[in-house]
Amino acid sequence: MKRIALLGATGSIGRQALEIVAAHPELELVAASSGSTPIDGLAPLTQVGGDLTELLEDAEPDVVLNAVVGFAGVPATFWALERGADLALANKESLVAGGDLAVAAWKRGGGRLLPVDSEHSAALQLLDGRPPDTVDSLVLTASGGPFRGRSRSELADVTSSDALAHPTWSMGPKITVDSATLMNKGLELIEAHFLFGLPYDRIEVVVHPTSVVHALVRFRDGAALAHLGHPDMRVPISYALTYPERAETPVEPLDLATGLILEFEAPDLEAFPCLALARAAGETGGTAPCVLNAANEVAVAAFLDGDLPFLGIADVVERTLAQVGCTPANDLTELAAWDAEARRIATELTRQLVHQ
Ligand code: NAD
Ligand code: MG
Repeated sequence: MKRIALLGATGSIGRQALEIVAAHPELELVAASSGSTPIDGLAPLTQVGGDLTELLEDAEPDVVLNAVVGFAGVPATFWALERGADLALANKESLVAGGDLAVAAWKRGGGRLLPVDSEHSAALQLLDGRPPDTVDSLVLTASGGPFRGRSRSELADVTSSDALAHPTWSMGPKITVDSATLMNKGLELIEAHFLFGLPYDRIEVVVHPTSVVHALVRFRDGAALAHLGHPDMRVPISYALTYPERAETPVEPLDLATGLILEFEAPDLEAFPCLALARAAGETGGTAPCVLNAANEVAVAAFLDGDLPFLGIADVVERTLAQVGCTPANDLTELAAWDAEARRIATELTRQLVHQ
């Protein structure tokens, strides 16, 4: 039996995780949380809002599936890493914001970190424990989102409902907007750097509209391995929860004979500057990724509320990064202070942009 704590149980990942848990008697849901929706009776221990580490202390899970959205997922990620519980990590923001500290906590705790992000689940399987020096480069694929192919000027007037119409994945609103700006792939670049210990110049992003290839690794001997599958998050969720079993999922096998379209193109960094901003913040290191993430959360929320234009998201992120320093945080308290400071500046910059 594996005792599972599911954080963010009411979200897109959370609901698919419940389906996986229900299908496997060896997975026992011992705790569940949501941000605000009542979830009484969903698990023996439930919590709405509040400090998720208290729930985890009470539940003593073997596996923490962190499917909270945003920086709010940070304490739970660190709780699992420090204690050496298996961490099935959907909440990429916690690894982006706190990467250096998280890797140190992971080493101390000695548990497994199993990414639920589809590209990183794929990369983990492709790398299969081989050391970074056998790898020439890792390629993360991006669907390109609903605005793929548009120029920068064609993005000026897009609305939140345009951005929420994702072509291949059905996800929560924040990550769907991140996919439309390509910030999602920027966050994933930073996530991959910390998960796999690869330098940024050996992690590439390509646009692949059908989202069938999730990641590809080029090895130093010239071989390139790719991971293919239908875009269905139940696969990486199941992989992380049932590791190393590779349990059955209710997903159709990939049919090659009916025609499989594998097209790739370079991302347009002029129309989608968030990807370049994230790469630069990752390379700068220290708290730059934390500041990038915080500013993005503020800007995306303002865009979803109809207050900030689409192109304003990258503007807010860029200007916040220019105003907030990037001295490394020594602990979670300092990290939270950097996050709060970046949010304060980003909120102010958003207000200025809206009233221009
Ligand atoms: P969602 O918005 O559908 O769900 C978020 C969940 O977090 C909900 O249960 C919500 O109640 C909870 N939550 C929100 N704010 C909270 C807070 N302050 N404290 C505690 N709980 C809070 O989001 P999602 O699409 O399921 O994404 C969850 C995470 O997984 C994100 O980090 C996202 O980037 C990542 N992810 C999602 C997908 C996907 O297909 N949806 C794919 C890859 C990665
Ligand atoms: Mg992903």
